[in-house]
Amino acid sequence: MRFAALVDVYERLEGTTKRLEMTEQLRRLFQAVPIAQIGKVVYLTQGTLLPEFKGLEMGLAEKLVLRALAFTTGLTAGEVEGMWKRLGDMGTVAEEILSQKKQRTLFGAPLTVQKVYDNLVRIAQASGTGSQDEKIKLLADLLHDSTPKEARYILRIIVGKMRLGVADMTIIDALAAAFASKEERGHVERAYNVSSDLGTVAGVLARGGLEGLEEIHLQVGIPVRAMLCERLPGLEQVFEKLGKCALEYKYDGLRIQAHIGRGIITLFSRRLEDLTEQFPDILQELSLAFKGREAILEGEAVPIDVNTGALLPFQEVSHRRGRKYDIAKVSKETPVHLLLFDCLYLDGQELIERPYTERRDALERSIKTTEKVRLAETLIAEEPKDAEDFFEQAIDHGCEGLIAKALDSPYAAGARGWQWIKYKRDYKAEMADTVDLVIVGAFAGRGRRAGTYGALLMTSYDPEEDLFRSVCKLGSGFDDEALFSLPEKLKRYEQEGRHTRVDSRLEADQWFEPALVLEVLGAEITLSPTHTCAFEAIREGSGLAIRFPRFTGRWRGDKGPRDATTDDEILSMYRSQLKKVG
Ligand code: ATP
Repeated sequence: MRFAALVDVYERLEGTTKRLEMTEQLRRLFQAVPIAQIGKVVYLTQGTLLPEFKGLEMGLAEKLVLRALAFTTGLTAGEVEGMWKRLGDMGTVAEEILSQKKQRTLFGAPLTVQKVYDNLVRIAQASGTGSQDEKIKLLADLLHDSTPKEARYILRIIVGKMRLGVADMTIIDALAAAFASKEERGHVERAYNVSSDLGTVAGVLARGGLEGLEEIHLQVGIPVRAMLCERLPGLEQVFEKLGKCALEYKYDGLRIQAHIGRGIITLFSRRLEDLTEQFPDILQELSLAFKGREAILEGEAVPIDVNTGALLPFQEVSHRRGRKYDIAKVSKETPVHLLLFDCLYLDGQELIERPYTERRDALERSIKTTEKVRLAETLIAEEPKDAEDFFEQAIDHGCEGLIAKALDSPYAAGARGWQWIKYKRDYKAEMADTVDLVIVGAFAGRGRRAGTYGALLMTSYDPEEDLFRSVCKLGSGFDDEALFSLPEKLKRYEQEGRHTRVDSRLEADQWFEPALVLEVLGAEITLSPTHTCAFEAIREGSGLAIRFPRFTGRWRGDKGPRDATTDDEILSMYRSQLKKVG
């Protein structure tokens, strides 16, 4: 097939925003393409060469593209760059240069889809010494033979900005219309959702029809498109919608789909990128935790504070993206835990059509939990009142809220639906002011903090009972000097066991007499069954805690322990933060 024919369709697609019209254009195109090339045409139309999870990248920086254009056209790199700045789109630059030069009329044989695709793949695959020149040569070769209009699209594919405005769902509609019927599009979509590869789906459908598609199944190593959730603002609405359902903690991390084969584990992101190299710690731990032969599991990778054991905000794990070099160091400093919540496939059994309860059973059967690989906390609940404490507990553990899941729902790959409903809190507040807290205990440090304390047990003061009540574990905000001077500084206050004026449900490794006061800033104040500050003032069984506490660097030597922030002050801060947002 001539590349020019494809380019004509692209131009028409660009000229419309109507989905039906796009579908019709694509349907005609797909019916006209030789079967052997339909996959390639689908990828090119998506502006790519292979599905995302194959990780094939063009590897041509814009600077290099400018050089290639200069090289082919006899302009200077500066001139090409000037045009690029003016026009803002590399495709239009190439088109304009080639039309000025009338390149096409002087040289070249007509381009075919096959040649364009092959050259682009070779550009993407060239690596090692000399590869930059090789890439430039391959691109120049294509440009030599292309018309200005063809150059426009070749360049857009190369710089990753095809932007035809064609959604995957439109391609699916067109494939169904071309090789089955509109009504049967669900079969095409199913095959896409489990294979994440529209090119392959197109080839199989064109060759073998719907029957052929039925042969496309989940496969270990090939990511499945993620099931997504809807949201509701209140627990009442959640139960109205689902009735008795499973509630799970909603962890704030990075969604991971783990494909465990025989001896090989691959990790994919929600966007189906291969993340395997970024999480060596998860790979190791998962191979210890997994008891079966092969599986596709899903969970959330959440960063953990090694010293306090607290879940950290998501940003701490996002560092890992794209940072290949110091990954060992990063995974030591901020390890991640994997909280698993689904099992799509286990030892030869495809489970995505099976109900939630069965998938959860399979998950529980297949995992022997370790410190770093655990299962998402879950509770089967019938009505909102069963859920309230669980929700507060989730928040206290550093989660964003809950996800409610219909007990009988299959894993609806690639779909956003009401079988999973997220319920986040409707308030989100920042702690406006710092608090002054008293050190009453410490926890031994780990990793880099071995030999000193990893975290301190901090209390507020309750003047009515003359008690120091726990309000957080503090491990952040210390520079090295402050950290390593802690044991020395605290030595004279060491106690055998908990001080009689301390009220704490946590067992510290080392107890102290309440004496030293630190200034602390937190993200917010939350209800907590773990801490005893203002216990049961708001809710039965709960005290208040400071979330994500951080030492400001200021020792309040000017304050005695009984001058510290009181329980009542923290209680009123909690109430005012609710008012502020509500
Ligand atoms: P969405 O993924 O729905 O487009 P988003 O990326 O903004 O939206 P959220 O709305 O915060 O994410 O919530 C959905 C995400 O929550 C999931 O994609 C998953 O990564 C995460 N998650 C955390 N815990 C769970 C759980 N127990 N079950 C399912 N998903 C969970």
